[in-house]
Amino acid sequence: MMSKMIRHDSREFDELRPIKIEAGVLERADGSAYLEVGGNKILVAVYGPRESYIRRLLKPNTGVIRCRYNMAPFSVDDRKRPGPDRRSSEISKITADALRPALMLENYPRSMIDIYIEVIEAEGGTRCAGITAASVALVDAGIPMKDIVVGCAAGKVNDAVVLDLSEVEDKEGQADVPIAIMPRTGEITLLQSDGDLSEEEFSQAIELAMEGCRKISEIQKEALMKKYSTEQ
Ligand code: UDP
Repeated sequence: MMSKMIRHDSREFDELRPIKIEAGVLERADGSAYLEVGGNKILVAVYGPRESYIRRLLKPNTGVIRCRYNMAPFSVDDRKRPGPDRRSSEISKITADALRPALMLENYPRSMIDIYIEVIEAEGGTRCAGITAASVALVDAGIPMKDIVVGCAAGKVNDAVVLDLSEVEDKEGQADVPIAIMPRTGEITLLQSDGDLSEEEFSQAIELAMEGCRKISEIQKEALMKKYSTEQ
């Protein structure tokens, strides 16, 4: 049985790691957020919509978003070589793709929204945590959105489908399925799958990750309520 399995941190199969989100943590950025989940620490800054000096990136009929996911050299056990690499370019792209459906970019022709995701410490699941934090930072920047996108992964460890893989589980596990959704409609804006899963396990993983997303969505809203109810 899935629920009988012992995870290395004693979590239930459907239990998230402890999570904390704070909105509006930076003075200079238009919007920002800080998120901790398990051993991950992630800071996001948002600018825009604004005119960009990189004119070739602007589009006459719509706004564009640009996203940079970056891991600090001290964020992992072995020093991470500074600068972009294949993994961070991929995560930057899928993050922008995951957030774009919630933004009404057609309202901002010739403008750009910049999202900077800085992973200060990493412990598995940073792409989903980055998306979750970026969405809070976008709200903090006052950018109207159809929904607050939220990300969470499920995967397979010791033949069981489990929620929110830690770094150890990611490395030792059999599969990882990160997703992002717009919780109001349940529309999936990110779906990746790495490893081996049967069709049934794949459906279970998506269902579990969706449940995780819904729980994290409540914490996003609490963070925004906290920020904006104490500021009057
Ligand atoms: N990781 C690392 N060094 C790297 C990249 C990743 O130690 O250069 C760790 C980090 O803890 C990360 C985990 O491996 O969270 C899993 O990485 P993955 O590429 O699966 O992305 P993530 O799960 O963070 O979205």
